[in-house]
Amino acid sequence: MADIIKLLPDAVANQIAAGEVIQRPASAVKELLENSVDAGSTEINLVIKDAGKTLIQVSDNGCGMSETDARMSLERHATSKIQNAEDLFAIRTMGFRGEALASIAAIAQVELKTKMQDVELGSLIEVEGTKVRRQEATSCQAGTSIQIKNLFFNVPARRKFLKSDSAELRHIIEEFTRVALAYPQISMSMTSNKRYLFKLKASNQKQRIVNILGNQYGERLVPVEQSTDKLKISGFIGKPQFAKKTRGEQYFFANKRYIRHAYLNHAVDSAFQELLPSDAFPTYFIFIEIDPKLLDVNIHPTKTEVNFQDNQYVYAILRSAIKQSLGKFNVTPSIDFDVEQSFDIEDKPEKQEIRNPFYREKSDYNPFDDLQKSRFAGTGKSNIKPDNWEKLYEVTKDFRQPEDKKKIASTAEDDASSNELASDIASKFFQMQQKYILTLIKSGMMVIHQRNAHYRILYEQFLESIEHKKAISQKELFPQNISFSREDAEILKEIQGDLELIGFSIKKFGSNTFVVDGTPAGYQNNNIQELIESSIENYKKNLQDINIDKKILLARAMAQNMAIKTSTRLSPEEMQSISDKLFRCKVPGKTPDGRLTFYVIPFEEIEKKFG
Ligand code: ADP
Ligand code: MG
Repeated sequence: MADIIKLLPDAVANQIAAGEVIQRPASAVKELLENSVDAGSTEINLVIKDAGKTLIQVSDNGCGMSETDARMSLERHATSKIQNAEDLFAIRTMGFRGEALASIAAIAQVELKTKMQDVELGSLIEVEGTKVRRQEATSCQAGTSIQIKNLFFNVPARRKFLKSDSAELRHIIEEFTRVALAYPQISMSMTSNKRYLFKLKASNQKQRIVNILGNQYGERLVPVEQSTDKLKISGFIGKPQFAKKTRGEQYFFANKRYIRHAYLNHAVDSAFQELLPSDAFPTYFIFIEIDPKLLDVNIHPTKTEVNFQDNQYVYAILRSAIKQSLGKFNVTPSIDFDVEQSFDIEDKPEKQEIRNPFYREKSDYNPFDDLQKSRFAGTGKSNIKPDNWEKLYEVTKDFRQPEDKKKIASTAEDDASSNELASDIASKFFQMQQKYILTLIKSGMMVIHQRNAHYRILYEQFLESIEHKKAISQKELFPQNISFSREDAEILKEIQGDLELIGFSIKKFGSNTFVVDGTPAGYQNNNIQELIESSIENYKKNLQDINIDKKILLARAMAQNMAIKTSTRLSPEEMQSISDKLFRCKVPGKTPDGRLTFYVIPFEEIEKKFG
């Protein structure tokens, strides 16, 4: 049989390679912008026609190329950025694979004009589907200008797969934005069908973000700063109250390269954990500077997926940096018990001033300590003093009870006074719609959301149990059997220890069956099977977490599951107990996922209504 293996002609090989690097107009835009950055430009202009399908042009004022280099730049594996494999570990440039221009030249009509700074004439080269059509000296400005016309003209299959102009343009804008965010010192512009979409002056980091995303971001951002001997983290996060319902504004950069990193994203999420509702995504622009040796960018042709040598280290530092900023700038709504009149935690995000009371600068700061301690911090070090929470309950003059009835917390001595006690409580708490607890406090009428409040109480109780390894457990009168699939049973075994820390007593019975004979204090007729099942689900979803977060998540899931439902009738004693316990919490004002637990209608407001 005749030999059948042949070497592919260059043009075909280039086309195939191009498919990996250039998937759509936006990929070409990314490569060209990055080349201009690598060339040391201080000004880069992008011109787009028909979402890049007709024309993509990038001009810069960078170093330019010599005549030979200009011709070479269009060859595959032609790069000025690395010479040998070792250089791969010291990359400071955006490009290095030497295939972008060759790929583009294989699938489009390219016109390249380039001139080095200190020479008279530049070069002009025209290439179409890898073939050089024209090459001559030309007079042009210093720098490089590349026009790409009719992308995929010779790969109709690819062209057919392009999305609508508006979709492709969105991709281009995204690529432009990523480079613009990473290089605020470069002035950059972009036009689409002759209309300016961006005109960005060189500026500082924050100003660049604001220029791209809009002026309203000026007051939405909080800086993040953290350095260790291995890396430097800087950038900005959005205040929690401006979090988005979609994952739009989330940017990580490693050595100024935009990257995607699910694990790091999780670090940010977990730092924000208590401050955001579960369906909101934090805004962030995080820049990580790290020795290129500790970073592998070579794992993907478009280089957006990178790996840190020590992901967990970066995770820990990042998470702590963000927690610190959130604490330092006190961006979380807080209750100030020392100021009697301000007992009002209604969310008024735009008026919220930036205060600095919770944060103490520590010279011996160790982020890993913080990881340990911050479990309970939630919204920053709380200034709520558990000792004087009862101040809240001082009734106003008009409503003051006789002296002897005031101390409802004192134990009843005889029947008569315990009756009085009961009536006292009854007069202080009302339930509304089997959902809210109403009571009067010094400054107004307080409305407590019974379920949200109980969720917060249980959550902190469970965290406390975990922290002090001292769970308050109650024996079940009738131990219950629960059973699971093989996989879930394995997981239950893994989290059994944590569940016991919360107050469960679980014993293995058969291979996939367990007996539960103790539950956390406060547990009431929930379906144990369901409760444990949901914890297992939760655990599976978060398998990536580092140890500490699993416990927090578990406490959260458990608290959420066990909190009293709305439409549960409460006795006055139960209402009192919820209210008391809520204000002994570290963060009484919100549920762990950021919903309001109570609200005060100030007397002035009631008075105004009648005035
Ligand atoms: P890489 O960026 O990976 O080196 P490219 O194919 O993108 O590969 O570019 C090939 C080479 O062409 C670069 O290494 C660089 O020397 C040169 N080059 C490309 N674009 C420019 C530009 N805008 N200004 C100066 N030189 C450029
Ligand atoms: Mg390049």
